[in-house]
Amino acid sequence: MFKHRLDIFFKELIAGKANPLGRLTDYMIRIEFQARGSPHAHTILWIESAPKVNVNSDEEVTNFINKYQKCAIPEKDGDLRNLVLSLQRHVHSATCRRRGSCRFNFPHPPSAETLIARESEEEDPIIVDREIKVKQEVCSRVRKLMDDKDLPEDISLDDFLTKAEVDPDLYHQMLKLMKSGKQVVLQRQPSERWINQYNPSILQTWWANHDLQFILSPEACIMYVTSYMTKSERAISELLNKVAQENKDSELKSKLRKVGSAFLQNREVSSQEAAFRLLSLPLKRASRKVVFANTAPKDIRVSMLKPHSLLQEMDDDDENIFFTSALDRYASRPDLLENMSGKAVNRSIIIAADKGILAYKNPTLLPKNGGSIHLDRGWAQSLMKRMNLVKR
Ligand SMILES: [Zn+2]
Repeated sequence: MFKHRLDIFFKELIAGKANPLGRLTDYMIRIEFQARGSPHAHTILWIESAPKVNVNSDEEVTNFINKYQKCAIPEKDGDLRNLVLSLQRHVHSATCRRRGSCRFNFPHPPSAETLIARESEEEDPIIVDREIKVKQEVCSRVRKLMDDKDLPEDISLDDFLTKAEVDPDLYHQMLKLMKSGKQVVLQRQPSERWINQYNPSILQTWWANHDLQFILSPEACIMYVTSYMTKSERAISELLNKVAQENKDSELKSKLRKVGSAFLQNREVSSQEAAFRLLSLPLKRASRKVVFANTAPKDIRVSMLKPHSLLQEMDDDDENIFFTSALDRYASRPDLLENMSGKAVNRSIIIAADKGILAYKNPTLLPKNGGSIHLDRGWAQSLMKRMNLVKR
């Protein structure tokens, strides 16, 4: 049912002629199951001529965002107002406040306009520190008032700021400031501080909560992919580590058997997920096919060893002890295919493994193989943490 609904919704609305988010050029969908088992879809959409932060002006970016998503509670009684209030209004739950404050950062601060918040342009770290302190002070006043249960629902932004004793110009300046990174601050009234941004066409068609976010950078996109691709398997990797630790003195073979059996017996699935898997329904779908090609130099590339029975039949001096991989077959393609290779390669994007590119120490290969990414230390560490990789 969910799959059918999602397929139709995607085909007819998102990728259809209605263009509720602009013309779709590419997409990637992954279905995941929540704690209680209900499926939901994580989706990345590529929209034709979407502006890029730091390439296009902020005005172009915010115009694009405002065109497709809003936080407004419709004044007029009707379906949309009911849907916004019942499906897009955040209510704290035990899981969202697991780490103290709400992990979705609700309630969100009101803002007269949609803007892109960034790090300070000041070079002097002392001045930057001072700015951040002012921001924290402003935020704590605003936050206190947002949590005030006696706050009139229809209070205007000006009255809200007067009540919080914050100067409107200073507030606007502070909304634009980030300690690190970038963030979209959406236009919203104080009464809309609990509203999860929505697209009216999507909400009226999908009839369930959705969370639309404009992606600010390639790094943020990778972070999103890795966070959600690995999330559900965290518990199992902890378990496998534990089993490996417990058997660390055993022989390699028996250790592997124990870890393998723990893996097979302990993967917890909900009934919905079990149904999905038993019916072999795909959990991933994308507009482009991706083939992983291990481009590490040949001598350090991982290959699959032929089975013992085959090896025994071979001559003693025969060095072909590995199965041929897709890459081997591509490298030894007949000349006849040479003129077609452009087409053949374009049909599936070959993502060159970073490992291979870094091993060649040639960073110019990165843009050629799917885009250059600026990696700084902090980002890499945070990515490692999200992927559950810890430095030992
Ligand atoms: Zn919450």
